[in-house]
Amino acid sequence: MLADSYRHKGLRNQLVELLREKGIHDEAVLEAINKIPRHAFLDPAFTEQAYQDIAFQIGAGQTISQPYTVAFQTQELQVKKGDKILEIGTGSGYQASVLLAMGAKLVSIERQRELFLKAKVIIDQLGYNPKLSYGDGFKGNEMYAPYDKIIVTCGAPFVPDTLLDQLKPGGRLIIPVGEGEVQKMILITKDLEGNVHREEKGDFRFVPMLKDKAK
Ligand code: SAH
Repeated sequence: MLADSYRHKGLRNQLVELLREKGIHDEAVLEAINKIPRHAFLDPAFTEQAYQDIAFQIGAGQTISQPYTVAFQTQELQVKKGDKILEIGTGSGYQASVLLAMGAKLVSIERQRELFLKAKVIIDQLGYNPKLSYGDGFKGNEMYAPYDKIIVTCGAPFVPDTLLDQLKPGGRLIIPVGEGEVQKMILITKDLEGNVHREEKGDFRFVPMLKDKAK
C-alpha cells in the first residue's frame, strides 16, 4: 500500500507554495497537487526529490513532468468537475491523477507498454478508474470522443488533425509543439462554431511524441 506520512504532506505543502509563487493561481489545481502523493510515482529512494520542482526519469527513457509544467498545463485547461479529458502520454500517471483528483473523467493513452502497465497499478491504488490504453496518441481515442479538453504531455511535431477533430466546440487543447529540445506550448480553443484559435504560452521541454506503439 501507499505510505503517505506527515513528512510527505509537509513537503507537498511546500511544493504548492512554490507553485503559487511561480504563478499558478487556480486553487483547484493547487488542491489536486496537494492531494496526489507524487512520491508514489517514483522509486522510494527519491522521496525527497519527488517534491522538488524538477522532472525525473521514470525508466524506459521517459520522464515524469516537472510539477510546474503539470500545474501550468492543467491550469490552461480550466478543468471543471465532470469534464471528459483526453491525455496523450500517460507516462508515470502523475498528470492523469491530478486531473482525476479534480473530478475529470479521464481517457489516457501511452505508447510504451511497460509504462502503461505501471501507471495503471498506481492510479488504481489511488482509487481512480480512468480509461487507460496502450496505443498511438496521434490517433486520439475515437471511442470516447468528443472531449471537453485534450492535454498532450509529449513534444509533438505538429498539432494532429485527429485531436482537433476529437475536441468539442467550446473545448481546449494544450499541446507542446516543436521537434527540437524545446517546444512552444500552444493553447488551442475551439469556439462554438467550430473555428480554432491558437495562442502561444511559452517554452517548455518534453520528450518527443513518437508515432506508433513501442514494445
Ligand atoms: N503525463 C506524464 C508525462 C510523461 S512523458 C506524467 O505525468 O508522467 C511523455 C510520455 O508520452 C512518455 O511516457 C512517452 O512514452 C509518451 N508518448 C510519446 N509518444 C506518444 C504517442 N504517440 N502516444 C502516446 N504516448 C506517447
